[in-house]
Amino acid sequence: MKLFDCLKKAQQHAIKKQIISKFYADYPEEPYISKDRKAEWIEQATTFPKTAVVPRAMMRRYADGLLPGHVYMLYWLKKYTNKKVPDYFEYKYGIDFEKERAFLIENGFLDSTNKPTEKGEKAIEKHNKVIENHAAPKPDVSIEGISKKILKARDSIQKNGFTEYIFIANRNCCSICADLDGQRFPISKLNIGVNAPPMHDRCSCSIAAYEDSKEYEAWLDSLDKGGTTKQREAKKKR
Ligand SMILES: [Zn+2]
Repeated sequence: MKLFDCLKKAQQHAIKKQIISKFYADYPEEPYISKDRKAEWIEQATTFPKTAVVPRAMMRRYADGLLPGHVYMLYWLKKYTNKKVPDYFEYKYGIDFEKERAFLIENGFLDSTNKPTEKGEKAIEKHNKVIENHAAPKPDVSIEGISKKILKARDSIQKNGFTEYIFIANRNCCSICADLDGQRFPISKLNIGVNAPPMHDRCSCSIAAYEDSKEYEAWLDSLDKGGTTKQREAKKKR
């Protein structure tokens, strides 16, 4: 081996070691890190762990010995032939496509033409959640979409026995919303676009139950004296 190749290999090994110890030390299995992984990835993953780091659940095997990445591979291979293998098998599922393809053939999930066998088809069906979760839908930011979310929150606030809510403006929303921030309204008078979000398209504000701090402290006090949550609920409904 040439000296250059040798140095490169040593450097790659160091990057891999650093990634494993920094992000995956307590994972059930180490995710695959290819020789193309750049040192910059570490910086990126430190800043945006949610989008860069392989989630722990991806490295936990099901009872049948498959990883979520295997399931997606089966689905992907069923759908495509001769297509370039996407990076996400490494970056999202933490698996080495070629190595795991051999594993799937060896274990009877794939046939020699790289298509799922009956066993493979059953695995796709059984772990369908993996396919569903692959392209998680983007949050609906239309007025209808946000309204639905707010009405759901209202129902839950009411169900929990609260009679008032406060408007919580997102810091980067708009001046209309900023004026409403922290204002208190009866939950029965909640009116979308008037005193509750969404005030406009893409409004990122929300609501929360209003909890009277005096009442809350009185309740904590009563707990100290042996009261129960039930008594508090009963008092609220009066
Ligand atoms: Zn807003």
